[in-house]
Amino acid sequence: MTIRPICITGEPVLHTVAEEVKVFDNELRQLVEDMYQTMDEAPGVGLAATQVGVGLRVFTYNWTEDDGTHLRGVVINPELELGPISDDEPDDETESEGCLSFPTYRFPIKRADYALLTGVDLEQNPVKIEAHGWLARIFQHEFDHLDGLLYIDKLRNEFKVEVEEITNEEGWGVDGLSWLPGKDKIEA
Ligand code: ZN
Repeated sequence: MTIRPICITGEPVLHTVAEEVKVFDNELRQLVEDMYQTMDEAPGVGLAATQVGVGLRVFTYNWTEDDGTHLRGVVINPELELGPISDDEPDDETESEGCLSFPTYRFPIKRADYALLTGVDLEQNPVKIEAHGWLARIFQHEFDHLDGLLYIDKLRNEFKVEVEEITNEEGWGVDGLSWLPGKDKIEA
């Protein structure tokens, strides 16, 4: 297993709709193993293949519910059914997300409280997970990555100027930037 560099906003693969997985081979297995290791080392609660520079519809997740239930897995060619998303202002404390591809910053964003995730695993067995709360949020965040969207693309207008300023200050928003978990010190 290998920790792979995580692409930073501006890298074209992050902003491109990922392709459906058609071949379930060792290369895919290797990708998923590396994604688990990269996600753990970052650390992150989810990681999309596009974030390690691979434009395929795959994401991993790792989340412990309040009751201690540990959910860890991979979904390939996911589909996501969502409950309603409120128009209310998102709460700074309880609804702020971060992203390993826009590292160290957090912004609040409304998400559906309910998500039904379907797809397949590495053995092409069906995956079906009903999620609420943060797990539902993780699924929405990672699913958006596969459609070439970062959460910063979906923020309310009031945050967009700040995102642009950060992007400029950090020198992000250009092709070819990445950071390596375990080596580069970044708190995401
Ligand atoms: Zn992200």
